[in-house]
Amino acid sequence: MPDVFADLVGQDEAVAELRRAAGAAAAVLRAGAADRSPALVPAGPAGTAEAAPEACDTEPGALDPSTGMTHAWIFTGPPGSGRSVAARAFAAALQCTYGTGCGECPGCHTTMGGTNADVRMVVPEGLSIGVGEMRALVLRAASTPSGGRWQVVVIEDADRLTEAAGNALLKAIEEPPPRTVFLLCAPSTHPDDISVTIRSRCRVVPLRQPPAAAVAEVLVRRDGIAPDVAQWAAAAAQGHVGRARRLARDPEARKRREAVLAVPRRLTGVGAAFDAASALIEAAEAEAEASVSEADATERAALETALGAGGTGRGAAGAMRGAAGQLKELEKRQKSRATRAQRDALDRALVDLAGFYRDALTMALRAPVDPVHTDTAALAGAGAQKWDAEGSLRRLEAVLACRAAIEANVKPRIAVEAMMLALWKG
Ligand SMILES: [Zn+2]
Repeated sequence: MPDVFADLVGQDEAVAELRRAAGAAAAVLRAGAADRSPALVPAGPAGTAEAAPEACDTEPGALDPSTGMTHAWIFTGPPGSGRSVAARAFAAALQCTYGTGCGECPGCHTTMGGTNADVRMVVPEGLSIGVGEMRALVLRAASTPSGGRWQVVVIEDADRLTEAAGNALLKAIEEPPPRTVFLLCAPSTHPDDISVTIRSRCRVVPLRQPPAAAVAEVLVRRDGIAPDVAQWAAAAAQGHVGRARRLARDPEARKRREAVLAVPRRLTGVGAAFDAASALIEAAEAEAEASVSEADATERAALETALGAGGTGRGAAGAMRGAAGQLKELEKRQKSRATRAQRDALDRALVDLAGFYRDALTMALRAPVDPVHTDTAALAGAGAQKWDAEGSLRRLEAVLACRAAIEANVKPRIAVEAMMLALWKG
């Protein structure tokens, strides 16, 4: 197994910072072993290194806050930049017995494999993380690490915390148990994504959109994909590593992308615009259905078995009556997950479409940059001639406005129809 940070593509600065922190964390543990009352240096109220008290330099076991370890972190970056990959790798580096994420020791292995008893990954499946889930998590996070190192809690999509859940988390971060580390992942540190008070207690690790060449390199090295396919997929995925891998490997994903990129050609009138809107929505629904239906059926079967649905004993009927509530709860969770999957699928389609109009815009401006979609570059070039820079920009903005509207809870069909009309009229 390679080094735990190997899959974090094009993020050299962040990796260097995390390695330094893991080294500092190991030093805290060693100081603790020598019984010199180790403690982490909490981030200051402004969340910056400068705001931390200077006195900590002189305390045994404490660390220079600019390079050292702290107990709460936020990983930010655009989708696909590797926020959760970074958080998991850092968790492994903290549990590493031999270094700062060697990839070889049991601590690294179990963390990367998702079986380390002291690392909890919270992956929200629905639209938000609730307060109950967060309270239970915070409670368990306060226990002593069984492996003798750190309790690590990774919260993916921390921007989906409900307000109450955010408050429960804030309390834990404000008064952190001595050996607990919180790693949050969010698109940005904008107050819409993460509350100002939580952000002020965390150190921020910004990840950038990895360059296409770096994404292509990892597809070739790790996934054994042919270099020309890897390069095409990396460009088409616009820096999203997971999406690039799917495009390179999954013919269905390529077909869906082609259908999306056929939209500009098909917009020949009002009727065609509404048809295109329906097609886009239905494709997103179908994609989401395919991605969640298997998990839904497995979960339902597992719950029914656990509740004794197949049973014939005297208790079985009564158990089933009590079970109705649990099944209802499961259905609610699954519905929420399906909605999320649909939104994600639709958003991917909109990002592809935005890439097309961005290509048209850069061509109209004769900007010396490579197109996002090499396979529709000719079509984008024709668009650039017809629409000029201004018309291309208006269309690009229409796609981005549609994304923003859906994010703001406008009904997807309404937002997409408005976008298609704008794309047609220009
Ligand atoms: Zn290790």
